[in-house]
Amino acid sequence: MDGYILPLAGRQIIYRPRRRLAFVGNQALADYVRRRDVPSGKADAADAPDAPDADVERFLSAVGFDGPPLECDQPEIPERGLAPTSAVLLMTNRCNLRCVYCYANAGAEPETVEMGWPTAKSVIDYVIANAAASRSPNSSDSGAEPPSVTFHGGGEPTVHWELMVRCVEYAKARDARARFSMSSNGVWNASQRRFVCRHFQNVSLSMDGVPQVQNRQRPASGGGGTFDAVMESVRAMDEAGVEYGIRMTVMADSVGRMPDGVRLVCEKTQARAIQIEPTFTDGRGRYADIDMRFADEFADRFMDAWEVGRQAGRNVYYSGARPWVVASMFCQAPLKAAVATADGRLVTCFEVFSAQSPLAGGFTVGRVGDGGVEYDRQALQRFLDAQQRRREECRDCFCYWHCCGDCATRRPGRRSDSGGRCHVTRKVTLALLQNYMADGGGLWQGLQETPRPAGCEATGETGGGAGGTAP
Ligand code: SF4
Ligand code: SF4
Ligand code: SF4
Repeated sequence: MDGYILPLAGRQIIYRPRRRLAFVGNQALADYVRRRDVPSGKADAADAPDAPDADVERFLSAVGFDGPPLECDQPEIPERGLAPTSAVLLMTNRCNLRCVYCYANAGAEPETVEMGWPTAKSVIDYVIANAAASRSPNSSDSGAEPPSVTFHGGGEPTVHWELMVRCVEYAKARDARARFSMSSNGVWNASQRRFVCRHFQNVSLSMDGVPQVQNRQRPASGGGGTFDAVMESVRAMDEAGVEYGIRMTVMADSVGRMPDGVRLVCEKTQARAIQIEPTFTDGRGRYADIDMRFADEFADRFMDAWEVGRQAGRNVYYSGARPWVVASMFCQAPLKAAVATADGRLVTCFEVFSAQSPLAGGFTVGRVGDGGVEYDRQALQRFLDAQQRRREECRDCFCYWHCCGDCATRRPGRRSDSGGRCHVTRKVTLALLQNYMADGGGLWQGLQETPRPAGCEATGETGGGAGGTAP
């Protein structure tokens, strides 16, 4: 479906996502464009198009209503197989924090899983070779994709410090263009801070806002708050000019503090992007949808926080609501990144940290060993097919082209199982459209799409590529 009519407070929003076009109309205009869209031969008497109205047609033509829709490729495995230039290393399930909502139950699993050097080296060698092969022999290579290494968790990557340092030094020695990023809780010691500031181009820093919320939701493993330690890392990165974004998780009992959290980030940090997500677990290690009441409140407070960020020139966003994206899959990680778990699996998602992950089965698409990286093409195809089947359930949703059926871990099952999260996505998307239209005097004619990251859109981790948030 390419056009949607969205009722709102007695008015109608007429929305064409693939033309990035939205405007407000009355019921008569909404009926007119709806009937106009019915394919000839399929209209019954009630749906038959009206005789053309010259004024309306002039307006529709002026706003590009019938212009060519934006195309987006179906996710496909290239004939010669994948050749990602982005490595993602899920380092360990240990952690120096005990966040109350941790999806991985990090630091508390009965068995510790740590990535070994042979696994890390194999993946780094693989992406460096892919990056080298992607260079044109006849060019100066200035446009070629540099290799990137992202450190992620299912634990805190910096607690596996020696391996991280070894990976950075090794990758740099092999290809000086190599770029480094990570998702981290920011609780580092002084020498770790110096190392990160010197070598990393991008950090997705998890921080839940005001001290009371951060300290309650993200305590240290031995107890005690972590706000001060995170702010020390923030100051170090600001001084060093490291690019970083803040990733904030909101729970039902902290939802009211969301605007305060964003205000604090705007006042005390130089982070340009602030990603806010509702929690997607109902305890450590347990994925769960959120209830409708929390979902509704989250969407309202999110828009308050968005306005706070807007006034301060910051980009506040939530991963599911992104009218600037027209895509066929929620994230590009399965096709653009070689994601390796600590126990040597190749997976399609940054959150599937090892065999201990409840999602490990369907997300495993290969192996990493001493001998290198080996994709299981059939398993990858099965995963992609499953994502498209999930997305098919969403055809009638006006977020179909943006949310694309949502993140594979946030909405692993049927659409009916994710009513809370879908409510947030739709309500925030609609509110953003309203704001865009208000800025344009009742008409929104699109934002430029920025490049989408190779990484995880649910955590704001770019996978070493360009960020893909709202312009
Ligand atoms: S959410 Fe991140 S920082 Fe918190 S316990 Fe889990 S892995 Fe550690
Ligand atoms: S139904 Fe839910 S998952 Fe599907 S596109 Fe809409 S908001 Fe996203
Ligand atoms: S966006 Fe979702 S599916 Fe994609 S890598 Fe992130 S958590 Fe995994």
